[in-house]
Order: sequence, then C-alpha cells, then structure tokens
Amino acid sequence: MPLVTSTEMFKKAYAGGYAVGAFNVNNMEIVQGITEACKEEKAPVILQVSKGARAYANHTYLVKLVEAAAIECPEIPIVLHLDHGPDFETCKSCIDGGFTSVMIDLSSKSFEENIAGTKKVVEYAHDHGVVVEAELGTLAGIEDDVQVAAHAASYTRPEEVEEFVAKTGCDSLAIAIGTSHGAYKFTPDQCTRNEKGILVPPPLRFDVLEEVSKRLPGFPIVLHGSSSVPQDYVKMINAHGGKMPDAVGIPEEQLRQAATLSVCKINIDSDLRLTMTGTIREFFDEHPDKFDPREYLKPARANIKETVRHKLVNVLGCAGKA
Ligand SMILES: [Zn+2]
Repeated sequence: MPLVTSTEMFKKAYAGGYAVGAFNVNNMEIVQGITEACKEEKAPVILQVSKGARAYANHTYLVKLVEAAAIECPEIPIVLHLDHGPDFETCKSCIDGGFTSVMIDLSSKSFEENIAGTKKVVEYAHDHGVVVEAELGTLAGIEDDVQVAAHAASYTRPEEVEEFVAKTGCDSLAIAIGTSHGAYKFTPDQCTRNEKGILVPPPLRFDVLEEVSKRLPGFPIVLHGSSSVPQDYVKMINAHGGKMPDAVGIPEEQLRQAATLSVCKINIDSDLRLTMTGTIREFFDEHPDKFDPREYLKPARANIKETVRHKLVNVLGCAGKA
C-alpha cells in the first residue's frame, strides 16, 4: 500500500490501548531492519527522518528508501514523518516532497509564537493531505543539533493544551513528562543506583499525562526521547573498545504503561543506534581481518530487527495491529 498518514493508526491505537513505534531512519539497513520486524509482527509503523538525517543521507534517498519499504511490505501501513521540523520551510519541503506527516517543533519559543508557527504549518499540511505533530514543553537531552540542558527542560503545562490544540488544529501533541533525548538521559545525580550499580532514572510524570488526557479526550499524545538504552548493548559497546559509562534510558515498563493510556506514538532512536554500534564493534573486535561492509552491516541489520521486534511485542503493544 502507498504511504499513509497516522490518522487511522492513532484512532486504533488510542482505542486499543497501544502505541505505534516511531523509529528514526538514516540509511538502508536501518529502514530494512525496522520494516522487516514490523512486517513479520504485523505492526503499523512510523519511519521518521530528522533534519540531521536529511542533511546526512539526502531527502530523496530517504524518501525512496521508505517508498521501497512500502513496496516490500504491502501488508503493513507505513507513515513517513519529519521529526523535529524546525521551521515552516523545512516542513513545506517535506510536505511537497512525499512525507505524509510532519512535526513542527517550536517548543522552545513562546506559547504565542508556538501557536502562530504551528498553525501556519497545519494549514499548509492539511491543504496537502498531510498531518502535523506539535510540541508543548521542553525535553532535555541531545537530538541532532538540538541540545537542551536538564535545567532548561520543562514539563508540559496541562492548562495550556486545550487552547494550543484548538488554536493550531494540530493532529497530535508531543508532551514533556520526563523523557529525554539521547543515550545519556539523566545525570548520575538525578538518579539512584540499583544493586547492580546501574542508574535508575526518576519516574515519568504520569500525573501530567493524565491531566493532559483529561483535557484532550481521544486526542493522540506523543512521547519523544523514549529509548530505554538496553544495558546489554551498552555492555557490548564497552566490552569492545567503546566508552559509554552511565548511559541510561526510560524503563520499558513505564513506556508500556504510557502506551495503554493516551500515548499513541513513542519515538525510539538511540536504542537502534546502540544496537548497530554494539554489533559492529563486536564484529570488528572478533574479525579484525574482515573489511567487507556487508559482513558487518548484515548482523547489525539483523539485530536492529530483533530490537524493534522486542519493542513492538513487549513495549508498544502494536504487534498484530496492522
Ligand atoms: Zn524528539
């Protein structure tokens, strides 16, 4: 089937108490690993492209890779989404260039500027059959060239959401309830340590999520920065020449819980990066004589597929929902 918007996906996810996975794509192996898992698990999927991915791989290559996935996986619905569109021009270029969904992220601007800028994108997008995700509240962490220090992050204010959605006409809303971008989501002093010495982050603010949902009944909510930073891969990276001390993510049980509520889209990027890097580091360490990229990208792609499968089945709950 051709690429779709997330409208039907989110309606079903909201009613069914699960979330759709939104995975970032940068190259062919990542697109293949994600969509092969979704095809086998019969899961709907959102493939998202950041500004950094467009700068790295080129808009046309990414669109054509995702269109190729849609041809290879006709049994599952696939959305092509712009992640963190910084301005109208970037959103317009994606709307005109084959995307079915865009995010306009003006969360660092004033409430009024966020409303005005988001509304402009929504009007253009809706005229072209494309849906829009907006954001209220600010996540900490690093996402491509967006960097927000922990002290500059702020939770979404539930009292603002009704006015924001009514005035902008956005189709989904990303909120800040304590998730964070990157593989170092929390500093050690924000966390406690468990018996294995692994950092345990502060819990997500489910009270904020519940208040937002009460004010926006039936409206799809999005969580960014929702990698769990699997410690097996952090260990694998560190065992094979890497250095990622105290990398920590969002516990999967909390994401599972959010998916049963109004959260319809959960963004996962760092976990796929860790999977790919750990696998390739291990391969290089164990096979110093090998130099054919296919030989190390093949296990990397296979492990991305298994990481995604785990998310679909055990975290998002969207397996079998295509
Ligand atoms: Zn994000």
